[in-house]
Amino acid sequence: NREEPNYFGAGPALLPTSVLQEAAYDLINYENQNLGIGEISHRSKPAIKVIDDTKAKFAQLYNIPDTHEVFFMQGGGTTGFSSIPYNLLANYAKRTGKKGKGAYAVTGTWSKKSAEEASRLGFDVEIVNKTIGDIPPYSEWKPISKDTAYLYVCDNETVNGVEFKDIPGSEYLPEGVELVADMSSNVFSKVIDVSKYGLIMAGAQKNIGLAGLTIYIIKKTLLEQASDEELRALGLPLVPIAFHYPTVVKNNSAYNTIPIFTCHILKLVADKLLKDGGVPAIQKINEQKAQILYEALQNYPDVYLLIVTNPKVRSNMNVTFTLASPELEAKFLEEAAQHKLTGLKGHRSVGGMRASIYNAVSLQSVELLVEFVNKFAEANK
Ligand code: PMP
Repeated sequence: NREEPNYFGAGPALLPTSVLQEAAYDLINYENQNLGIGEISHRSKPAIKVIDDTKAKFAQLYNIPDTHEVFFMQGGGTTGFSSIPYNLLANYAKRTGKKGKGAYAVTGTWSKKSAEEASRLGFDVEIVNKTIGDIPPYSEWKPISKDTAYLYVCDNETVNGVEFKDIPGSEYLPEGVELVADMSSNVFSKVIDVSKYGLIMAGAQKNIGLAGLTIYIIKKTLLEQASDEELRALGLPLVPIAFHYPTVVKNNSAYNTIPIFTCHILKLVADKLLKDGGVPAIQKINEQKAQILYEALQNYPDVYLLIVTNPKVRSNMNVTFTLASPELEAKFLEEAAQHKLTGLKGHRSVGGMRASIYNAVSLQSVELLVEFVNKFAEANK
């Protein structure tokens, strides 16, 4: 057991204690089989049931329509950066007989990395927006050009603290261009309309589970791909088999060995979310948490400076701010730790502080942080 932590780390991040307790038991003895969940075959009935149940619970959480399919792959968000252009351009080749390109909106560290990876792999990439730490209106983005297969966005930039509050609709996105979103740090944190997306990709280790699996929600039509011969003829690379979405889906996410313990945790977290009122309920709490924290920081402009200057796109998951000097920042971190408030140091590339207030971080934890933010400001203004 443990005392409830007040932990604001960006990822891997906090998980509900009750889930970890159940999972810890299951790791030793799953369903009284005298074997742990990580010790059974990934093709055995109980393992397949874990995969199927997780998918079903995700479908419930997000109201995923029949047009879309959930699958899991190892490798993290970074594998998504690589596998997305391979797979979506193989689909575009099937749809059009052409070699398409990916349009990328660069709004922070992770979308930048993703665009760079697609380009490094030799795919055609067009940057339609580059505003690290901000999301300007779509009318200010470069128009989507011909032969674009997909538009890629990072829905929540974990390092910079900016989050999309809506998604580009038909006023920006031409018919047939698929919306692809990295939701690694805000999946299941707010209600979304899955039908609007071609593909959602999310590393599990922040809002929904442990590192080891990445969640994909894909429009089924995107699983059709040009044949190897057709790809070769177009000068497109073949998709590595372990990351070949149609193969992974055909094998119910177990083409190769799936880390079933990680999947089991996803299921337990999804279960808890559903019992707690689903995504609408957690969204309400998340909005409340973000609101009280941003308000507290803004009440002391001489002490705290919010890194994201555009209030419309401030993240409800990662709250980034600096203090007047490195010394004051060190003091803030030290005193916060004395109050058992930890994980607040910002990413090395941005500096300052970052409070990650994912689903598992309770309103009570954020209230304790707000209390400290106020107290510290009063003593140091
Ligand atoms: N995308 C986002 C939004 C992230 O926050 C991260 C990790 N912090 C990644 C991608 C990369 O994830 P991984 O380390 O699992 O490859």
